[in-house]
Amino acid sequence: MTEMGKEWEGWYCFKCNEKIEEGGVLFSYLDFKRPIKGPRCPKCGAVFVSEEQGRKLRNIEEQIEDK
Ligand SMILES: [Zn+2]
Repeated sequence: MTEMGKEWEGWYCFKCNEKIEEGGVLFSYLDFKRPIKGPRCPKCGAVFVSEEQGRKLRNIEEQIEDK
């Protein structure tokens, strides 16, 4: 499982003010879609993956597929 940094720890959802938790997230960035463990709001399900994290994830996956 791809590990992501927890720079989002202590964040709160801007909509419902719920604490962001790690959960299953279907992450999509351009043509790249993958279920990952990532920060999401347990109440409304909003996902908090930054574009930079997305780019990193995509690079990791490409390296795995290249082997
Ligand atoms: Zn929320």
